[in-house]
Amino acid sequence: MGNPVSYPLTGQLDPDRWEFWIGGTWQAPLEGSGDAHAVVTDPATGRAIGRVPQATEADVDAAVAAARAAFPAWAASGVSTRQALLAAVATGIREREAEFAAVITAEMGAPRDNALEAQTRLAAEVFDSYLTVLADFQWQERIASSQVVREPVGVVAAITPWNYPLYLIAAKVAAALAAGCTVVLKPSCEAPLSAFLLATVFERACAETGAPAGVFNLITGAGSVAGAALAGHPGVDAVSFTGSTGAGRAVARTAAETVKRVGLELGGKSARVILTDEPDGSTVKDLDRAIATALADAFYNSGQTCTACTRVLLPEAVYERAVALAAEEAGRWPLGDPAGPGDHLGPIATAAQYDSVLAHIAQGTAEGARLVTGGEAPADRRPEGLASGHWVLPTVFADVTPDMTIAQEEIFGPVVCLLPYRDEEEAARIANDSIYGLAGAVWCADPLRAEHFARRIRAGLITVNDGTFNVLAPTGGYKQSGIGRELGAHGLAEYLETKTIQW
Ligand code: NAD
Repeated sequence: MGNPVSYPLTGQLDPDRWEFWIGGTWQAPLEGSGDAHAVVTDPATGRAIGRVPQATEADVDAAVAAARAAFPAWAASGVSTRQALLAAVATGIREREAEFAAVITAEMGAPRDNALEAQTRLAAEVFDSYLTVLADFQWQERIASSQVVREPVGVVAAITPWNYPLYLIAAKVAAALAAGCTVVLKPSCEAPLSAFLLATVFERACAETGAPAGVFNLITGAGSVAGAALAGHPGVDAVSFTGSTGAGRAVARTAAETVKRVGLELGGKSARVILTDEPDGSTVKDLDRAIATALADAFYNSGQTCTACTRVLLPEAVYERAVALAAEEAGRWPLGDPAGPGDHLGPIATAAQYDSVLAHIAQGTAEGARLVTGGEAPADRRPEGLASGHWVLPTVFADVTPDMTIAQEEIFGPVVCLLPYRDEEEAARIANDSIYGLAGAVWCADPLRAEHFARRIRAGLITVNDGTFNVLAPTGGYKQSGIGRELGAHGLAEYLETKTIQW
């Protein structure tokens, strides 16, 4: 067996653990996987902080078999049993929230407050939200002489990325378990440590509530090996994937061989449209606040949020003033040690992503966009003692045209593009000129006009003004941003089959 996984930040985890969580026990990788491992790197320092084993197909088989074995009992469980498990997991996350947040900060660079609130507490909230969903869910309906019943789809493979590692796991696992499905989770190789902590929470929650061993299984491994093996596995009934559009296409192709249910939560290039106030068409409600809100959204989590509105569409009448405001506002987002409190920017989560963000910034300039502020952080702007991390300054591009690469491709870094528009027709056309359709935002003093415009954007989640995220409402993508919905009752329904019994 290879070297142990090390979890320097997680006193409660056994540092000698080199195992997967399968069937309610910690199991060493099966023969053949040798000491293959993925190194987890702290993006603030570039230093290795942990290692996790890489599953082979044999390990995937074992995890799927455990989930299958647990399925009949869990599918037959009642609502209160499922609620008890979900509540115990939510409690378990909350009890160890500081530890979760520290691990998330270390594995992907989210600043401490972000890791605590938007990642850890939000994940607990998602588990809790399914108690409410289960309390109200209609499992059957009568349609004339037929009884239509909803049943769990079976074993679910959950494949997740690194940008909100715990929350994105929660969105899948909580819904699938609430539906009566059992789960095999494969988190990203880049930020898998929080998933191991979650497995320890499940270990206790299952013991406390008597949930069958194997309702939740965790393996780690490469997308092309473990992820692909799960997507193609005949023992997996549904695969729920969050990640890049390219990998999502591969998952859908692989899953097609066994005609399994596929849910895809993919990339985005969302537009925020700042509308003028009627009737003169030359003023905008609280332009300063509109810009501050736009940048806060685009820079949060260092821009590594799939729903971030990274194209900001502005009426020509206020465009130059908005550009100046954006330059000023970007200066209020210092880079900072992610271990510290506050709203500063952390590093880019991975070396590959860092290179990709910098390449996009270079391409934006090469294609003629105006770099107002930002770019790679020079030595004197990097947080003290963290010079070797992946640091990008909050970046604002003006004079971006819709055909430019930076207006079309997801950058996934703290880069915002400001585009002028002449009238609402053009604003709607630019907003929808994208292969993606994940999210959007509208800023307007008149709520009726705002809603009217929100309905014109072809995307799954539109925020109006200061609208806030609601874990009971569905999220998901139009177009190449995905298939299906997560969260709330809509999210639960993704894991159900529908059966008609007729007399
Ligand atoms: P990624 O696609 O590289 O990896 C995501 C997961 O898929 C990882 O676990 C990876 O190992 C696995 N994977 C990769 N190739 C695979 C394959 N061929 N078969 C099976 N599994 C495979 O994505 P990432 O770089 O980790 O995450 C960033 C991307 O995720 C961005 O594009 C972002 O927009 C997207 N994202 C979308 C949402 C959403 O809800 N729509 C949320 C967060 C992130």
